[in-house]
Amino acid sequence: MNNIPIYNDEELICTLNGALLERQGITDITRLAELYIEKNDLEKVMKASDEPKVFVDEWHDIEYDIQEAWGFERSRKHHRFWEMPKCGCPKLDNIDMWPSGVYFMSGSCVLHGKGSK
Ligand SMILES: [Zn+2]
Repeated sequence: MNNIPIYNDEELICTLNGALLERQGITDITRLAELYIEKNDLEKVMKASDEPKVFVDEWHDIEYDIQEAWGFERSRKHHRFWEMPKCGCPKLDNIDMWPSGVYFMSGSCVLHGKGSK
């Protein structure tokens, strides 16, 4: 299967890996496309918000739904939380650690820092 681009309005937001779709036995990508668009919309809201932290749980909920739509088990440690808009946690270190579940968070991150609200 070819890779499948997903658009939100006119904007390319991600590409579904055709080999992975095949391996997971997914022939209908409607649900996946809906979820990636939903996540993209939420991330736009987070970018524009003065209090993006209130959307963090919703972001994780969509990630869980995406995992299920792919046929994977729900696993928090696979969530690349550092890709959230405005996240100030160390990205490269966390990419290195993925998917161990042992990640670095910055105390000054507006989403994940201890003092963030
Ligand atoms: Zn963060």
